[in-house]
Amino acid sequence: MGRLFTESLTGPRIFKCKSCKMDSASRDDIVSKNFQGRFGRAYLFRSVVNVSLGPTEERVLISGLHTVKDLHCSSCQQLLGWKYEKAYEESQKYKEGMYILEKERMLKSGW
Ligand SMILES: [Zn+2]
Repeated sequence: MGRLFTESLTGPRIFKCKSCKMDSASRDDIVSKNFQGRFGRAYLFRSVVNVSLGPTEERVLISGLHTVKDLHCSSCQQLLGWKYEKAYEESQKYKEGMYILEKERMLKSGW
């Protein structure tokens, strides 16, 4: 399964996977809350933990064509969002290497 270790986050405000409660991201790593995911509101993060990446895909999103990889919880394999590998429009380049987590699939812990 490629699951070598799990990482715990120590910040005061943590997002966890809703289905298995594994730590996924820290609120301090949110870049934007104004994103649209598959299941409604989604957040852009500069880093996440305990995820596994799916195959590279070309996907047309609201903001244009992007190369993305789906993001799954490394513990329970729940689909959590996606990673931006490449953006083709100059205005979208800042998202490269960042992660989308679906609010619907997250639990807030500690806040
Ligand atoms: Zn999970």
